[in-house]
Formats: sequence, C-alpha cells, structure tokens
Amino acid sequence: MKITFIGTGNMGCKLRGNPSVLIDDLLIDIGCGTVKQLGRFDIETKSLKYIVISHYHPDHFADIGHFFVTRYSRNELDNRIKIIGPIGLEERIKGFLKITELGEELLKGVEIIELEENIEVNIDKYKIKPILLTHGRIKPSYGYIIEKDNKKIGYTCDTTVCENFEEICKNVDYLLGDVNGITTNPAHMGLNDFTEYAKKYNNCKFYAIHRGDYEERNEFVNFPEDGDVLNI
Ligand SMILES: [Zn+2]
Ligand SMILES: [Zn+2]
Repeated sequence: MKITFIGTGNMGCKLRGNPSVLIDDLLIDIGCGTVKQLGRFDIETKSLKYIVISHYHPDHFADIGHFFVTRYSRNELDNRIKIIGPIGLEERIKGFLKITELGEELLKGVEIIELEENIEVNIDKYKIKPILLTHGRIKPSYGYIIEKDNKKIGYTCDTTVCENFEEICKNVDYLLGDVNGITTNPAHMGLNDFTEYAKKYNNCKFYAIHRGDYEERNEFVNFPEDGDVLNI
C-alpha cells in the first residue's frame, strides 16, 4: 500500500495544504486547495476511485465542488467514483452544488455512500469503519479505520482526546492524526497528548498531520510534509 500525504497543515497554517491523505486510490478529505495539491504531486483526478469525508469543515470538505468541476473540464464524468462520509453527505453535496450554481449533472458517475457510526462496511477492496470522535461542538466528526491487504490505517482528523481516539490507536498499525497545536483543546489534539499515546501504543506508528506552524518535534512521532510518501 502507498500512503501519500497530500496536505499536512491546518486551516491557519501558511504554506502546507489542508489535511488530506491518499491511500492507493482512496483519498481521505478534500478541503480547500486539495485538488491543486493533487496536481502538484502529479496525481490525476481520474485515478481516484474513492473519496472519504471525515466531517464538513471547509478544510476537509470545501474542495468537493472544485473536484466536480475539474472532472467535468477534464472529460472524466464517465469515470466512476464513490464518495463516502457521515449521514447527511448527499444533502451536503447537493446543497454545495446549489450555492455554487453548479448543476447536478456534475454528479454523473458519482455514487454517494453514507455511513453510520461504528458500522464497518466493505467497499470493494477496502474495509472502512467510521468512528465518532469528539471535535468541540461539531457532530459528527468521524475518524476511520481503513483496512486493506491485512494492514490497518487510522485517520483521526479532527478530534480532541476521547475514548474513541484511544480505541482507534489500539486497533491500527499506522495512525494519521490531528495534532493541531502544542496542547490539546476542546476541539483538537495537541502534540503533548498525541506524544503520550505514541509512547503508550508503540506498536503503532504515529504521524502528525493537521499541524499548525509550530516547530516542536520529538522522536516518538513522525512529522510528514506535503508530498511525502510512505510505502507499507
Ligand atoms: Zn474540523
Ligand atoms: Zn480541520
């Protein structure tokens, strides 16, 4: 499996892209600027077969309209793509098309799949388990366990410290998580707590994404940059 870090920044970060990770042909999160980031790394939109959405904040979802227009302008509407996310996804996508004056004909070839929390689904070659996280007053914010080829990858953007975050740490080989700042707040994990989990679950490799512009580093956590690739 190939993991490509498309964006490793948070909303306020100056240069790095909004959080987005590509696992083979499955993209997780498509916030502002993600489509251009894919181009920067020579990843074609037609190569994506799945887009998984964690929650509806703009740094995770707001490039979806840009993605649809890009498919149209590149004559890719015959390519099939599955867009997967929390309950309410179809309504959000159609609402987004409406406010940006885009027609629903852009949804040609698009299958929308809404997931209920904690119910694992098999979608083609992937097993996908959505897990409810705690992200301030935002509901729902899903973390995911993505399983393929006997490897499990956890994605936890966005979340603060919560039981379900720890549940994901226990069950995955790689954890790609929200490490927004140095210290945890009610909406986001800080490097302080993320590092403690990395020490506690040392069979799992921890990767800090959704990072602000802080300089702190330590030996327990990996700090990928945009475009970095991890072959597992
Ligand atoms: Zn958020
Ligand atoms: Zn975010």
